[in-house]
Amino acid sequence: MRRFRSTLAEPVALVPTMGMLHQGHASLVRLAARRASSVIVSVYVNPTQLALGEQRAYPVNLVEDVGMLQRLQEELCQEDQGYGTIKAVFAPTDQDMYPHGTDLWGGCCSHVVTSPRLTRGLEGKGQATHFVGVGTICLKLFNVVTPQLAVFGEKDYQQTIVVRRLAEELLLKVEIVVGTTIRDADGLAVSSRNVFLGPERRGVAVVLWKALKAGAAMYQSGQCQRRTILAACKEEVLREQDRQNLRDLSDRVNFDLVYFGLNHLQTLEDIEEVEVAEGALLSGAIQMLPYERIKCLEDVQVSDRMSVRLIDSLVL
Ligand code: AMP
Repeated sequence: MRRFRSTLAEPVALVPTMGMLHQGHASLVRLAARRASSVIVSVYVNPTQLALGEQRAYPVNLVEDVGMLQRLQEELCQEDQGYGTIKAVFAPTDQDMYPHGTDLWGGCCSHVVTSPRLTRGLEGKGQATHFVGVGTICLKLFNVVTPQLAVFGEKDYQQTIVVRRLAEELLLKVEIVVGTTIRDADGLAVSSRNVFLGPERRGVAVVLWKALKAGAAMYQSGQCQRRTILAACKEEVLREQDRQNLRDLSDRVNFDLVYFGLNHLQTLEDIEEVEVAEGALLSGAIQMLPYERIKCLEDVQVSDRMSVRLIDSLVL
């Protein structure tokens, strides 16, 4: 990778992904190509940022990923405006990235402790190792690829703040660029994890976006209190849960609310009242649970038995 990198026209942009590429990833690649001559897309399911069960279940399809990038490359090559193109897909193995193993807490390998203040809440809460894994893999990828810029999605807003701070504090020569969230027609943020949902759970999963929009509507109506904004989000969730509870057991889609958060856009501190001039981050996570009772044995997919964590955010 280093030898290849030294032949590339600069600036070089890196788009780090965990594969199972979708339109959200494609939009980040397009953004990278507008800013850099050479784009490198990394595809690596980073075990240290995932819970154990998730590591085993995370969807992988490198052949389709490369096919999708080839189609995107054709589109980029047609752009007649001096845009960059994809120069490589970097798909390392665990052995490449973690030669001494992936058991961060077992003491086997060096790792990056990202700013605790930025990582103790939201996605860091109850997933203590998550951002250590994110920070560690980003630093490794930056060291291998040495990009001038790295592109991340706003959907994982906290991640963009954590990685930007990491780059700043560890004096890395990389600019962190953030792309907007791509959504399906009904508003659900596109995600690699959506493939596990199946049509019924997929239909209900949009409740997360609807809840965030309900919170945003409350803010737009002039309400700036945390209590009021988050109550509007929770109400949307409760309404959907009530609707599901009225359904037959075999049709019912269960999900748990993990959190809704209202946080400062840079420090990620909890906000009690939004300063209109400053805005705020409104974010949330839900856990889509397995079906209580499976209708028909032939229809059972392994994925139907999996619980799927979805996150989303919007900037007020
Ligand atoms: P992942 O493969 O899920 O680790 O995501 C790789 C990058 O794509 C991250 O920077 C994500 O924030 C970004 N991403 C994921 N979903 C979307 C989306 N729907 N729209 C834009 N970017 C996304």
